[in-house]
Amino acid sequence: MDFVKLPDRQPLTYIFDLDGVIYRGDEKQPFAAEVLSALRERGDLVKFFTNNSSLSRESYSRRLHSFGIDAPIDDIMTSSYATALYFIETGKIGKTVFQIGQEGVTSELEAVGMKVIKEDEEPEAKIDCVVVGIATAFNYDKLARAQSAILGGAEFIATNEDLTYPTESGSVKPGNGALTAAVRAATSVEPFVVGKPHIYALRKILEHNKTTPENAVMVGDNLTTDIIAGNRASMHTVVVLTGLTLREQAEAATGEMKPDYIIETLKELLD
Ligand SMILES: [Mg+2]
Repeated sequence: MDFVKLPDRQPLTYIFDLDGVIYRGDEKQPFAAEVLSALRERGDLVKFFTNNSSLSRESYSRRLHSFGIDAPIDDIMTSSYATALYFIETGKIGKTVFQIGQEGVTSELEAVGMKVIKEDEEPEAKIDCVVVGIATAFNYDKLARAQSAILGGAEFIATNEDLTYPTESGSVKPGNGALTAAVRAATSVEPFVVGKPHIYALRKILEHNKTTPENAVMVGDNLTTDIIAGNRASMHTVVVLTGLTLREQAEAATGEMKPDYIIETLKELLD
């Protein structure tokens, strides 16, 4: 792979997925810190984008720091923060949100001025929007309240639609797509989905950094989210085989799932 041959060798904006790319569970991936430093030294921009809505950008920043990776909050995009940007863009600041979600959703939405209702708080409140993010404490009452609000006219937003997420042991757990599917089934309403493979958040990263898609590279381990999103956004796409995807799957991928490059580890980004 030789990005140096790209036209004019303008600085590239690399957007890295986190889990499976920069770390896996509690373990840093091989060469992650070294490669990111080297890219920054040669003038490229390094950004991070996770579909995981559970943590705030501040928490991810601390987490990356613990792996020896410098990641200012401004360089981190999460599906929760992208949801907050969506509310800003659509003029909904100050509106009431019922959330099924965790710290990431609460903190990012409150930080931009949304009024967030959780659990069984304010049962009589009028709800303008329902946001579904990953919640390990999902239950029937929350589903019923989300249903009632959406059928009453509240806007339905899902941070992402990953049906499963991988655990460190190699097994999978239900992802936010599974919770979103329950709300969709109970309401027959389609959500606006913020995270990958949709390109809303990628578009925000490019806008924020005044970068064009031709000068941006999506690096991910998931063909169905990272690579589809990168391709839909007309960015260069790189799949790294340190996470979910096997080489046979990457090589067999077609259409929107086909990556421009397949690499074993992040180190090959420097070759
Ligand atoms: Mg991943």
